[in-house]
Amino acid sequence: MTKKFAWSFSKLKTFETCPKKFAAENITKTSPFTESEASRYGKFVHKCFEDRILKKKKLPIDLLHHEPVMKKLENAKGDILGEQRLALTKDLKPTGYFDSDVWVRGQVDFAAVSDTSMFVVDYKTGKMSEEMDQVELMMAMFICYYPEIETGAGAFYWTKNKKFTNTGIHNREDIQAMWAGYLPRVARMYDAIDTGTFSPKQNYLCKNYCNCEECAYHGI
Ligand code: SF4
Repeated sequence: MTKKFAWSFSKLKTFETCPKKFAAENITKTSPFTESEASRYGKFVHKCFEDRILKKKKLPIDLLHHEPVMKKLENAKGDILGEQRLALTKDLKPTGYFDSDVWVRGQVDFAAVSDTSMFVVDYKTGKMSEEMDQVELMMAMFICYYPEIETGAGAFYWTKNKKFTNTGIHNREDIQAMWAGYLPRVARMYDAIDTGTFSPKQNYLCKNYCNCEECAYHGI
Protein backbone atom coordinates (compact mmCIF):
# COMPACT_ATOMS: atom_id res chain seq x y z
CA MET A 1 0.00 0.00 0.00
CA THR A 2 2.73 2.41 0.90
CA LYS A 3 4.07 2.43 -2.66
CA LYS A 4 0.79 3.93 -3.79
CA PHE A 5 0.21 6.32 -0.91
CA ALA A 6 1.28 9.84 -1.86
CA TRP A 7 1.84 12.06 1.14
CA SER A 8 1.66 15.80 1.63
CA PHE A 9 2.48 18.08 4.53
CA SER A 10 -1.14 18.15 5.71
CA LYS A 11 -1.47 14.35 5.57
CA LEU A 12 1.74 13.93 7.54
CA LYS A 13 0.58 16.47 10.12
CA THR A 14 -2.77 14.70 10.46
CA PHE A 15 -0.94 11.40 11.04
CA GLU A 16 1.28 12.98 13.68
CA THR A 17 -1.69 14.64 15.40
CA CYS A 18 -3.76 11.45 15.43
CA PRO A 19 -3.01 8.25 13.49
CA LYS A 20 -6.63 7.09 13.84
CA LYS A 21 -8.02 10.27 12.27
CA PHE A 22 -5.40 10.02 9.51
CA ALA A 23 -6.47 6.45 8.71
CA ALA A 24 -10.18 7.30 8.81
CA GLU A 25 -9.62 10.11 6.31
CA ASN A 26 -7.00 8.56 4.03
CA ILE A 27 -6.76 4.79 4.35
CA THR A 28 -10.07 3.20 5.41
CA LYS A 29 -11.92 6.40 4.38
CA THR A 30 -14.59 5.72 7.01
CA SER A 31 -14.65 9.43 7.96
CA PRO A 32 -13.53 11.40 4.91
CA PHE A 33 -12.14 14.89 5.40
CA THR A 34 -14.82 17.55 5.32
CA GLU A 35 -14.05 21.17 4.71
CA SER A 36 -14.59 23.50 7.66
CA GLU A 37 -15.73 27.10 7.40
CA ALA A 38 -12.15 28.14 8.26
CA SER A 39 -10.67 26.12 5.41
CA ARG A 40 -13.27 27.47 2.97
CA TYR A 41 -12.29 30.98 4.02
CA GLY A 42 -8.61 30.07 3.61
CA LYS A 43 -9.27 28.96 0.02
CA PHE A 44 -11.12 32.19 -0.69
CA VAL A 45 -8.21 34.30 0.58
CA HIS A 46 -5.70 32.25 -1.44
CA LYS A 47 -7.77 32.73 -4.60
CA CYS A 48 -8.08 36.50 -4.03
CA PHE A 49 -4.30 36.80 -3.49
CA GLU A 50 -3.60 34.70 -6.57
CA ASP A 51 -5.91 36.86 -8.72
CA ARG A 52 -4.37 40.03 -7.30
CA ILE A 53 -0.77 38.95 -7.95
CA LEU A 54 -1.19 37.21 -11.30
CA LYS A 55 -4.19 38.96 -12.86
CA LYS A 56 -3.95 42.37 -11.14
CA LYS A 57 -7.55 41.91 -9.98
CA LYS A 58 -8.49 44.20 -7.08
CA LEU A 59 -8.74 42.63 -3.67
CA PRO A 60 -12.25 42.55 -2.19
CA ILE A 61 -12.94 45.26 0.34
CA ASP A 62 -12.44 43.02 3.38
CA LEU A 63 -8.94 42.06 2.16
CA LEU A 64 -7.86 45.49 0.96
CA HIS A 65 -5.60 45.93 3.99
CA HIS A 66 -3.29 43.30 2.42
CA GLU A 67 -2.63 45.50 -0.61
CA PRO A 68 0.79 46.76 0.62
CA VAL A 69 1.93 43.14 0.99
CA MET A 70 0.59 42.24 -2.45
CA LYS A 71 2.53 45.17 -3.92
CA LYS A 72 5.68 44.05 -2.16
CA LEU A 73 5.28 40.49 -3.48
CA GLU A 74 4.48 41.49 -7.05
CA ASN A 75 7.62 43.65 -7.08
CA ALA A 76 9.85 40.81 -5.86
CA LYS A 77 12.90 40.08 -8.00
CA GLY A 78 12.46 37.48 -10.75
CA ASP A 79 9.60 35.63 -12.42
CA ILE A 80 6.46 35.68 -10.30
CA LEU A 81 4.53 32.44 -9.93
CA GLY A 82 1.33 31.74 -8.02
CA GLU A 83 -0.44 28.61 -6.75
CA GLN A 84 1.99 26.12 -8.24
CA ARG A 85 1.23 22.43 -7.76
CA LEU A 86 4.32 20.34 -7.02
CA ALA A 87 4.67 16.57 -7.25
CA LEU A 88 7.83 14.49 -6.88
CA THR A 89 8.72 10.84 -7.19
CA LYS A 90 10.56 8.95 -4.45
CA ASP A 91 13.80 9.91 -6.25
CA LEU A 92 12.78 13.59 -5.96
CA LYS A 93 12.12 13.94 -9.68
CA PRO A 94 9.22 16.15 -10.82
CA THR A 95 6.20 14.20 -12.01
CA GLY A 96 2.52 14.85 -12.76
CA TYR A 97 0.34 15.78 -9.80
CA PHE A 98 -1.88 12.72 -10.29
CA ASP A 99 0.65 10.40 -11.94
CA SER A 100 1.06 6.88 -10.61
CA ASP A 101 4.65 7.46 -9.47
CA VAL A 102 3.93 10.52 -7.31
CA TRP A 103 5.41 10.20 -3.81
CA VAL A 104 4.84 13.65 -2.34
CA ARG A 105 2.58 16.52 -3.33
CA GLY A 106 2.62 20.16 -2.35
CA GLN A 107 1.50 23.59 -3.41
CA VAL A 108 3.43 26.85 -3.39
CA ASP A 109 1.20 29.89 -2.95
CA PHE A 110 3.72 32.43 -4.24
CA ALA A 111 7.21 32.18 -5.68
CA ALA A 112 9.70 34.58 -7.21
CA VAL A 113 12.43 32.88 -9.23
CA SER A 114 15.41 34.74 -10.61
CA ASP A 115 18.46 33.20 -12.31
CA THR A 116 19.97 31.51 -9.28
CA SER A 117 17.65 32.31 -6.40
CA MET A 118 14.13 31.68 -5.23
CA PHE A 119 11.73 33.11 -2.67
CA VAL A 120 8.66 31.08 -1.76
CA VAL A 121 5.74 32.20 0.38
CA ASP A 122 2.92 30.26 1.98
CA TYR A 123 -0.17 32.25 2.96
CA LYS A 124 -1.61 31.28 6.33
CA THR A 125 -5.08 32.30 7.45
CA GLY A 126 -4.94 30.43 10.77
CA LYS A 127 -3.23 30.99 14.09
CA MET A 128 0.38 32.16 13.94
CA SER A 129 3.06 29.62 14.79
CA GLU A 130 6.85 29.59 15.03
CA GLU A 131 7.13 26.26 13.16
CA MET A 132 8.72 26.63 9.72
CA ASP A 133 8.67 22.98 8.62
CA GLN A 134 5.89 23.35 6.04
CA VAL A 135 7.62 26.15 4.15
CA GLU A 136 10.92 24.26 4.40
CA LEU A 137 9.25 21.29 2.69
CA MET A 138 7.96 23.63 -0.04
CA MET A 139 11.49 24.99 -0.56
CA ALA A 140 12.94 21.47 -0.66
CA MET A 141 10.33 20.45 -3.24
CA PHE A 142 10.50 23.63 -5.30
CA ILE A 143 14.29 23.49 -5.72
CA CYS A 144 13.93 20.06 -7.35
CA TYR A 145 12.38 21.86 -10.35
CA TYR A 146 15.21 24.34 -10.74
CA PRO A 147 18.71 22.82 -10.91
CA GLU A 148 20.22 26.28 -11.51
CA ILE A 149 19.02 27.72 -8.19
CA GLU A 150 21.82 28.24 -5.70
CA THR A 151 20.10 30.10 -2.87
CA GLY A 152 16.59 30.41 -1.54
CA ALA A 153 14.41 31.73 1.22
CA GLY A 154 10.93 30.84 2.37
CA ALA A 155 8.31 32.68 4.39
CA PHE A 156 4.84 32.40 5.82
CA TYR A 157 2.51 35.37 5.49
CA TRP A 158 0.10 35.31 8.45
CA THR A 159 -3.01 37.10 7.24
CA LYS A 160 -4.62 37.59 10.67
CA ASN A 161 -1.52 39.36 11.98
CA LYS A 162 -0.32 40.79 8.64
CA LYS A 163 3.14 39.53 9.51
CA PHE A 164 5.83 37.46 7.82
CA THR A 165 7.95 34.81 9.48
CA ASN A 166 10.84 33.60 7.38
CA THR A 167 13.53 30.96 7.13
CA GLY A 168 16.38 33.32 6.24
CA ILE A 169 18.52 32.67 3.17
CA HIS A 170 19.88 29.16 2.60
CA ASN A 171 22.20 27.69 0.01
CA ARG A 172 21.19 24.78 -2.20
CA GLU A 173 22.85 22.13 -0.01
CA ASP A 174 21.05 23.43 3.09
CA ILE A 175 17.73 23.35 1.30
CA GLN A 176 18.31 19.82 0.01
CA ALA A 177 19.29 18.80 3.54
CA MET A 178 15.79 19.85 4.71
CA TRP A 179 14.58 16.47 3.40
CA ALA A 180 16.45 14.75 6.21
CA GLY A 181 14.02 16.15 8.76
CA TYR A 182 11.09 14.63 6.88
CA LEU A 183 12.28 11.14 6.01
CA PRO A 184 12.00 9.59 9.51
CA ARG A 185 8.61 11.22 9.98
CA VAL A 186 7.37 9.86 6.66
CA ALA A 187 8.86 6.44 7.48
CA ARG A 188 6.80 6.32 10.71
CA MET A 189 3.65 7.09 8.72
CA TYR A 190 4.42 4.36 6.17
CA ASP A 191 5.20 1.86 8.97
CA ALA A 192 1.76 2.52 10.42
CA ILE A 193 0.16 2.01 7.00
CA ASP A 194 2.08 -1.24 6.45
CA THR A 195 1.14 -2.65 9.85
CA GLY A 196 -2.35 -1.17 9.92
CA THR A 197 -1.58 0.35 13.34
CA PHE A 198 -3.48 3.60 13.81
CA SER A 199 -3.89 4.34 17.50
CA PRO A 200 -6.12 7.21 18.58
CA LYS A 201 -4.30 10.17 20.12
CA GLN A 202 -6.55 12.53 22.04
CA ASN A 203 -5.97 16.12 20.96
CA TYR A 204 -7.58 19.52 20.38
CA LEU A 205 -9.53 18.22 17.36
CA CYS A 206 -11.51 15.56 19.26
CA LYS A 207 -14.19 17.84 20.67
CA ASN A 208 -15.34 19.69 17.56
CA TYR A 209 -13.13 18.96 14.59
CA CYS A 210 -13.09 15.20 14.01
CA ASN A 211 -15.71 13.16 12.15
CA CYS A 212 -14.52 9.85 13.61
CA GLU A 213 -17.67 9.07 15.56
CA GLU A 214 -16.61 5.52 16.43
CA CYS A 215 -13.58 6.80 18.37
CA ALA A 216 -13.80 6.78 22.18
CA TYR A 217 -12.47 10.35 22.32
CA HIS A 218 -14.94 11.77 19.82
CA GLY A 219 -16.65 14.87 21.20
CA ILE A 220 -14.50 14.92 24.36
S1 SF4 B 1 -11.71 11.81 18.12
FE1 SF4 B 1 -9.65 12.52 18.57
S2 SF4 B 1 -8.51 10.66 19.10
FE2 SF4 B 1 -10.36 10.02 18.05
S3 SF4 B 1 -9.81 9.85 15.91
FE3 SF4 B 1 -10.61 11.90 16.20
S4 SF4 B 1 -8.81 13.17 16.59
FE4 SF4 B 1 -8.21 11.04 16.94
